[in-house]
Amino acid sequence: MKATNEILTVEIYSREEDGTVLVECPHCHWIIGLNRRGFKGEQYVHNANQNCGGMFEVSYDAKFRKVLPVERDESATPAPLEQSS
Ligand SMILES: [Zn+2]
Repeated sequence: MKATNEILTVEIYSREEDGTVLVECPHCHWIIGLNRRGFKGEQYVHNANQNCGGMFEVSYDAKFRKVLPVERDESATPAPLEQSS
């Protein structure tokens, strides 16, 4: 799946117990681990070889959530893509 070239903003993040920051890729909706501290305001590319290659930026005002909305499956499998109707 190809992402658009648009840089989308991520407004919500979570953390694993080891401190890894988790965000949902705004392009393909996979959960991505960002193993960095100053992630707010940073831009990332979702691994173009194995994933969508979409670019996103974590908002400076990103809000912490204990559980990301898409984490309901309790596994590392990607959430189903939402169909725009
Ligand atoms: Zn992606």
